[in-house]
Amino acid sequence: MHAVHEVMVRQLQQAGARLDAIYYCPHISADSCDCRKPKTGMLERAAREHALDLLRSFVVGDRHADIELAHRGGAKGVLVRTGYGEGEFLWNAAKWQTQPDFVAADLADAVNWILRPTI
Ligand SMILES: [Zn+2]
Repeated sequence: MHAVHEVMVRQLQQAGARLDAIYYCPHISADSCDCRKPKTGMLERAAREHALDLLRSFVVGDRHADIELAHRGGAKGVLVRTGYGEGEFLWNAAKWQTQPDFVAADLADAVNWILRPTI
């Protein structure tokens, strides 16, 4: 996982983006922690540590749990169709209680939607 994070940080840096922090849940479901998605522990910790307004924040992910996490925390949820996202969307979207605020082709498409001019 740390090796994947290093690659992700390097690729984002090369594209001109930077990360303030990386959060992850080191537990399994049986641990009943508050940080396993869609529980909001990680989101609340990030909001505390970086003075984020979750009502004005976005969660981008390739799993429905990411969308549910976003909505439970008061944020908007963007599903990317890369990774697990395409399969999640094609096979499961009709069953979801909460739908993504936007379905993006990939991370760049998600960023463009988030930064779109409003009004
Ligand atoms: Zn956890």
